[in-house]
Amino acid sequence: MNFETFDTSITIGLRRRLTEELEKEFKKSGYTNYEMVLDAISQIPRHFFLAKGFEVLAYENEAIEIEADQTISQPLTVAIQTYILDIKPEDHILEIGTGSGYQAAVLCLLAKEVVSLERHEVLYKKSTEKLRKLGFKNFRTFFQDGFIGNPRYAPYDKILLTCGAPEIPQTLIDQLKIGGQMVLPKDDGKGKQDMIRLTKKEDGSLEEENFGKFMFVPMLAGTDSKSF
Ligand code: SAH
Repeated sequence: MNFETFDTSITIGLRRRLTEELEKEFKKSGYTNYEMVLDAISQIPRHFFLAKGFEVLAYENEAIEIEADQTISQPLTVAIQTYILDIKPEDHILEIGTGSGYQAAVLCLLAKEVVSLERHEVLYKKSTEKLRKLGFKNFRTFFQDGFIGNPRYAPYDKILLTCGAPEIPQTLIDQLKIGGQMVLPKDDGKGKQDMIRLTKKEDGSLEEENFGKFMFVPMLAGTDSKSF
C-alpha cells in the first residue's frame, strides 16, 4: 500500500527519525527480528490519526490525548505490542480498544484481517473513517464492549488488548485458537500494567510470559455514546 498522498516531506522525515529511535530501543532491549514491525511503523502516517496541528508531535515517542479522554498509545508501546504479538501474514486478529485507529492500521498492514472493538462511539466512528480513507479493506470495526469479544468472527489467531485489563478476560481466551496468542496489559494493583503474553496450549491451559511494566488507560465495561 502507498500512503504518500497523506504525507509531506516534513512528516516523512519526522517518521524516519521516530523509526530510528524505536530501532535503538529495540536493540537496547535485546530484541531481534523486529524489521517487519518497524517497516509498518515507517509506513503508517501517525499524524493522520490526530487532529490538524499535531503533525510534529505525532512523531515524538509519546502518548497523546485524543477524544473521550483516551490516548493514542506511545509509538514504542505500539511497536512492542505488535512485536510481542508475533504477527504472521495469514493471521486473523482481534483488537480491543480501537481508539484512534493507529494500532489497527499497523495490524492491518501486517496481518490478513483485523476485527477491532471500541466502547466509545465517537472514537469508533472516527477511527473507522480514518482506516477507510487510508484504503484498508481487511478490517471490521465495531462499537462494542470488548469484554464480550466478538464470537461471530472467532476463533482468532491473535488477540491484542490496548487498554489495561483488571484480569485476564476468560471470554476472550475462549475466542482464541489453540496455539493462538493474546497480548494484554494486566493491572499490577499499583497503578501500572504488566505486559503479558498468553499462549493457549493444546490442552487449553495458558503459558504466561511477562514483558515488563507499561501504562495504559483502563479497560472499562459497557459502551459510551457521549459526544465530546
Ligand atoms: N489502539 C489505540 C489505543 C487507544 S487507548 C490507538 O492506537 O490509538 C485504549 C482504547 O481502549 C480507548 O479508546 C478506550 O476507549 C478503549 N477501551 C477501553 N475499554 C474497552 C472495552 N471494554 N471495549 C472496547 N474498547 C475499550
